[in-house]
Amino acid sequence: MDHVSYAWPLVLASLLVAVLASYTALDLAARISTARSAQARMWWLAGGALCMGVGIWSMHFVGMLAATLPVPLAYDPGLTLLSLLIAIAASGFALYLVSGADLTRARLVVGALGMGGGVAAMHYMGMAAMRMSPFIAYNPTLVLLSVLIAVGASGAALWIAFRLRLRTHHLYRLRAGAAIIMGAAIAGMHYTGMAAAGFPTGSQCGALAGGWSGQGLAPMVLSAAVAVLAAAIVLSMLDRRFESQSALLQSSLSQAHGEIAFLALHDALTKLPNRLQLERRLEQAMRDSRRSGQPCAVLFVDLDGFKAVNDAFGHQAGDRLLSLIAQRLRETMRPADLAARMGGDEFVVVAEGVSREDVHALAARLGAVLRQEFVVDGHRLRISASIGIALYPQDGASAQELISHADAAMYRAKSGGRDAHQFFDPSMLVNAQENLELLAELRGALARGEFRLHYQPKLDLRSGRAVGAEALLRWASPSRGNVPPDRFLGLAEQAGLIVPIGDWVLDEACRQAAAWRARGHRDWSVAVNLSALQFDHPGLVQSVRDALRRHALPPRALVLEVTESTAMRNVESSMAILKQFEAMGVGVSIDDFGTGYSSLLYLKRLPATELKVDRGFIRDVQHDADDAAIVSAIVALAQRLQLRVVAEGVETPAQQDYLRQLHCDQVQGFLFGKPVPGVEFAQVVERAEAHLRETGRQHTARAPGVFQQPDGVLSP
Ligand code: C2E
Ligand code: MG
Ligand code: MG
Repeated sequence: MDHVSYAWPLVLASLLVAVLASYTALDLAARISTARSAQARMWWLAGGALCMGVGIWSMHFVGMLAATLPVPLAYDPGLTLLSLLIAIAASGFALYLVSGADLTRARLVVGALGMGGGVAAMHYMGMAAMRMSPFIAYNPTLVLLSVLIAVGASGAALWIAFRLRLRTHHLYRLRAGAAIIMGAAIAGMHYTGMAAAGFPTGSQCGALAGGWSGQGLAPMVLSAAVAVLAAAIVLSMLDRRFESQSALLQSSLSQAHGEIAFLALHDALTKLPNRLQLERRLEQAMRDSRRSGQPCAVLFVDLDGFKAVNDAFGHQAGDRLLSLIAQRLRETMRPADLAARMGGDEFVVVAEGVSREDVHALAARLGAVLRQEFVVDGHRLRISASIGIALYPQDGASAQELISHADAAMYRAKSGGRDAHQFFDPSMLVNAQENLELLAELRGALARGEFRLHYQPKLDLRSGRAVGAEALLRWASPSRGNVPPDRFLGLAEQAGLIVPIGDWVLDEACRQAAAWRARGHRDWSVAVNLSALQFDHPGLVQSVRDALRRHALPPRALVLEVTESTAMRNVESSMAILKQFEAMGVGVSIDDFGTGYSSLLYLKRLPATELKVDRGFIRDVQHDADDAAIVSAIVALAQRLQLRVVAEGVETPAQQDYLRQLHCDQVQGFLFGKPVPGVEFAQVVERAEAHLRETGRQHTARAPGVFQQPDGVLSP
């Protein structure tokens, strides 16, 4: 029996080919799952199958070139090509499996068997192509081992490929590591298979007559290997670029988050914690109090006569006085206590581990300190404070309740003649009534037809034309006037009213959009906001479908806006819902983008059509370098993900100009028109388009990069 000897450089070359082919396949597998259209998915899948299949195949034949057999060798062309087809088909099957939504155990087993079986079949088909006679004597144990290696390694590789899809960091390096494992496994299978083959002495290669000789096959194998190498290099370069770009964007976003987070928790004027932070810290204090059994106290401090200071000396003096008061509060409290500003001339102090007597003394001390003279801009000022006190646990069970009860006690102190403090007593409750009444009215509002939609135009910066409107909800309450959505949507969510209200909004917006279409605006779309609860509601997709059908509106004329935080809260279920909208052809916009803790990878997977950059970034975009960097990074990201970018809250011509330079697609904001009832919308659009025509002309007329304030400001 003759055995095989190897030329080691070629063995290494075969290993390299296998690793590169694996890298290419892993990379393409990730692209399949994130591709936006079915067509793109198909192309990536075909490309991946081709690269992987050709790679495995050329690995085999480089390995054969590396081997020296006792007889000259050739390969039967038909069987050789068949082995190539098998490798491509097995790779395609495996890639298809890992690109699915999830990798169940059954899928993994089937995939490993398919891929491993395919690699083994390719190998033994390649061996059969030599048409040896007598037939190669295989060692059954080693053959079995080679198949097991192929199946096991394929399983591991598929699992790794699937896991890698969920990563964003160090993807490039992880993928390279996985490719080495996978490549080594493919080569391992090959060389185990070769070790299993024994060539009886006097063997003849039947393919010598009319087959491809080893020398003849070499250029073909070599060019296949080079093609795989080239594909791997190009893809890895793309990977690296994407990784460094995402890292850049991620870091500018997280820096912005840091600043937003500070602003979100502090009052800008006094730098004291704001209401939000107060509530969090108070909840913590309540937990501590439950543990220690010692009460904690909330002191609601409202200044007496502050308005008079403002009126007499101006707002700036008022602001300075507030800063001084904040400073005195801080100096009077114990370090562990907390002072926060509620807004206006209201402050709250939280004191932990105090008895009723302690709180009494603290309130008296605060009153005394605030009564002392302040000097502001050379004026000597005197004010006083009314203080209401609520104690935990007896006066309230939640932070909000404690604060509102302390507030009620403060009112009593004030109406009792000011400059005093007062402990809470349940008889003081009148204000809590307010929310209950609002809720009672809200319950009937839908039936009484008190809701309206206003429409704000969205415009395309390049064409200067309106592309549609965002529908914004208004409540025309007979007793309260126009109530803005921020005032009642939270309450509607709590009371379970948001779904019927949301259904009404969908229906009304679709009706209006159909009316515009009937009047010839066939390319306009209407955008409808979805609240988080509405988004989670199982009937949402059907509601959307019904509304479209009722008004015979084509799906592409409807865009649904969900905020970034809603969409990212539960990514898997968001994906499932958004995919249904994608399948229907309804547009999906990610609203208030940049304010949540966006995961770029997930964003990449969400089937959205549009990103709306949050107003907060637009406000200072032409003065604040960070905001500008973020907006341009978002635009770049969106372009790479083939998403439209809309800037919301555009108020000045300078912002408009700047956004145009950043190549933002669409704009929306007071500069182009405030939200108006449907009947006035066409007029607003006409003015907005005229404004864009005007500024567009100025824009093209001047030298690029030179800033100049356009003077044609749109009147509201
Ligand atoms: P949003 O979806 O981000 O809507 C944009 C908000 O910005 C609107 O406030 C709009 O009037 C305002 N706005 C537009 N341009 C400018 C500008 O140039 N400057 C400034 N300062 N503001 C501008 P609005 O109408 O008060 O709505 C507030 C929020 O309430 C909306 O934010 C949206 O999240 C929610 N909302 C409105 N209508 C609905 C609805 O029908 N359903 C649900 N679930 N939420 C809604
Ligand atoms: Mg919106
Ligand atoms: Mg928004």
